[in-house]
Amino acid sequence: MFRKLHLKLTAYMGVILILFMFFVASGIYKFTKIIFEDGNKELMKTEALRIYNYKNTAFPEFFLNNGTLLKRLRPNNLTDSKRLDACYIVYDEYLTPVFSDEGEIKIADDIKALASNAFEQGKDSYTTLKVGRFNYRIYTKYFSDITGQSVVQVYQNTVNEDILWSFLRTVLFGIGISGTLILLVLSYILTGKALTPIKETWMRQKEFVADASHELRTPLTVIQTNLDVVLSDEDGTVDENEIWIDNAYSETRVMAKLIDQLLILAKADNNEEKLDISEFSFSEVVENVCNSMEVIAKNKNIDFITNIEENVNIKADYDKIRRLAVILVDNAVKYTEKGAVTVTLKTDKNRKIFSVEDTGIGICEKDLDRIFDRFYRADKARHREGGTGLGLSIAKWIADKHKYSLTVESTVNVGSKFTLRM
Ligand code: ADP
Repeated sequence: MFRKLHLKLTAYMGVILILFMFFVASGIYKFTKIIFEDGNKELMKTEALRIYNYKNTAFPEFFLNNGTLLKRLRPNNLTDSKRLDACYIVYDEYLTPVFSDEGEIKIADDIKALASNAFEQGKDSYTTLKVGRFNYRIYTKYFSDITGQSVVQVYQNTVNEDILWSFLRTVLFGIGISGTLILLVLSYILTGKALTPIKETWMRQKEFVADASHELRTPLTVIQTNLDVVLSDEDGTVDENEIWIDNAYSETRVMAKLIDQLLILAKADNNEEKLDISEFSFSEVVENVCNSMEVIAKNKNIDFITNIEENVNIKADYDKIRRLAVILVDNAVKYTEKGAVTVTLKTDKNRKIFSVEDTGIGICEKDLDRIFDRFYRADKARHREGGTGLGLSIAKWIADKHKYSLTVESTVNVGSKFTLRM
């Protein structure tokens, strides 16, 4: 499922990238071309004006004729001060070329229609035209003043530029294709990275649902079995069946606790559980929790030692912090058969430290990493009664949500110490 999604996302990215690259490359190409053509058009227009002005200028030439010094006006040679590598044709009002500097390939006849159009419409034109094998850029400028009408045509062979343009097209195409390929590979890797946490959450959610169903199934089966026994004893009294009814009842308590914890975690996953922050005395909370747990410890013949510093105030969610304290102290009492449970609350260099230490069964090293995982129980067979495997994951979530740190140190058959640093 995720592989398909991964490929699908990469394909979508690919389409977006190709379109993006196409628009960027063709944009660069078109924009460069427009700027270039605009520049050329202006240059050719200036050149046409220069030619026209030259047409009307002449320099005096003096010569002797039978002893008389005569003056003759000779037109300037237009190409003397050529500024553009272009060819020129000047037409008079009868469409007769009065000057031309056509170079080697002559195309005057092919573009004469443009000059005739300029006369007819009385306006300039700028166009590119394919004549023979080559493309030409032609500027046709119309003039009308007291000297009469005339048209100046300036044209250039664009073969060299065409080679450059086709080179630019190839380069842009190459960059576009290789850029798209590189970005596609990158997007495949990045999409994979982005999908990893979703994949993990999905797997965890799947596991969670499977575990939850399994955990709910177990007490349900116990209840059913016990009630079946009661039902099969048609003549039996409630007293006679007390043991089976008690069993069923205690399992309903396990179920209720489990459902309660599942709800907390479900809300936590949906980010629905918001912290209700207030300032309160954590010392009082710990004392209160210890008071209710001490009885259970005494019943199990284990010492219950408390070192609670007074007036340790914190700003936190009261209910959640209390729940965390209950989970840690309850576990310590639950997993200790002899010795002592020591609950400490103190302030150390501006940090408040709450620890619960016991001399119980301890946790082996391989389980230590997983102890805060949902439904993880170090020894499922031994500690089924009352345990859901969700307590510590809730405690960890509460600590994380408050940005506190919750750590554990433990040695098998020596004891465990859970520390909450605030
Ligand atoms: P449970 O409801 O089973 O106690 P928890 O999430 O509170 O669930 O604890 C997970 C597991 O961690 C327990 O099943 C137990 O194996 C281990 N554990 C927790 N606290 C202690 C402790 N103080 N001493 C030894 N083992 C502990």
